Amino acid sequence: MDFNNTNDAVTRRIKAMTDRIHNLKTHDLYFYNQPVEEMLPGNKVLVRGREMGMYASYSYLGLVGHPRINEAAKKAVDKFGTGTNGVRTLAGTLTIHTELEETIANFKHAEAAITYTSGYATNLTVISTMMGRGDYVFSDKINHASIVDGCLMSGAEFRRFRHNDMEHLEGLLKNAPSDVAKLVIADSVFSMDGDIIDLPKVVELCKKYNAWLMIDEAHSLGVLGEKGTGIEEHFNLYGEIDIKMGTLSKTIPSVGGYVAAKQEIITYLRHSSRAYIFSAALPPAQAAAANEAFKVILDEPWRLERLNQNTKQFIGGLKSLGFDTLLTETAIVPVLCGEDDMAFAMTRECQHNDVFVLPVVSPAVQEGLARLRATVTAAHEPSEIERAMDIIGVAGKKLGLVK
Ligand SMILES: *Cc1c(COP(=O)(O)O)cnc(C)c1O
Repeated sequence: MDFNNTNDAVTRRIKAMTDRIHNLKTHDLYFYNQPVEEMLPGNKVLVRGREMGMYASYSYLGLVGHPRINEAAKKAVDKFGTGTNGVRTLAGTLTIHTELEETIANFKHAEAAITYTSGYATNLTVISTMMGRGDYVFSDKINHASIVDGCLMSGAEFRRFRHNDMEHLEGLLKNAPSDVAKLVIADSVFSMDGDIIDLPKVVELCKKYNAWLMIDEAHSLGVLGEKGTGIEEHFNLYGEIDIKMGTLSKTIPSVGGYVAAKQEIITYLRHSSRAYIFSAALPPAQAAAANEAFKVILDEPWRLERLNQNTKQFIGGLKSLGFDTLLTETAIVPVLCGEDDMAFAMTRECQHNDVFVLPVVSPAVQEGLARLRATVTAAHEPSEIERAMDIIGVAGKKLGLVK
């Protein structure tokens, strides 16, 4: 295709994005896709030879690089090699896969579990396998993109309720026909805001209106609950979530996604969901790493204690500097900037002072709600967090975001 001689919609979209990125790069405001050369202790990274404090990682418990987990992965490579060369249903199921699924089911207090090769693929395939034309899905307005895409792909009637607004959800449930299949779906911890879904109320509404409930625990696994087992432990509310979804790529330092549920649901997904049937199995090393990571979480509870202390220090410190951190209660800490330009400028100030944070701008978040999306983990030292907050504070003052 000759870009200079076409002006169809595709060409215009590609050009618009190319221009937007070129513009950011010209103003030294482009900080995406930076190559990390090395992971260093204390949640630091080496970028272009510079040591930076990492405040954009989802390794909430600092498990990436854990010796036990690395060792498990290496052993699996020696035993099974590096790939599965096929789908689970045919020749791709290894003992490490079934072991991992048992570990997940136990960890999540469920009868059974199924794994897929990414969290994104998990939401897409599970939602579109469970739901179809004529059914109704109810999704929080700021749910993760993979949930939105799964709902659209399902072909079901798609209803979005205002963020964590239970009255709005009830209104939508009430308006749906009483005899159709309904699914309510939400993030446990919202990935851009860090706040927690009102699970007790959602459960009550699902019972009242006879709806299935699916919760995405990408940011609550290892984070919520006294032992880190997630949102059910946090609210002491077990057995009410029908489809407990999560990823193996955040707290768990691997890749992949899972669903934990009743045996019948897992059997159904294993024989109906297309990402399971038509896509190759999780590589052995990644399955073994994930399996070991769930055990490390339970064996090393000090990690969650550290995460909770660090989270408190970070949110409290940023608030006292005058920043708006929305309603976060977790390790995801939005630092509200307003316009996209401000979020980019804040990022530049932080990055130039070796604090690795990234901006989230429209359309990923609503216009006017652009932010730094900072994360804190168990691997940060309190003194390092102080230093990062100093730098964010100086940047905020310099740019007039705080007084
Ligand atoms: C990251 C994320 C996913 C996707 O998980 P991957 O394993 O990275 O594909 C799904 N849901 C939420 C809420 C996420 O934050």
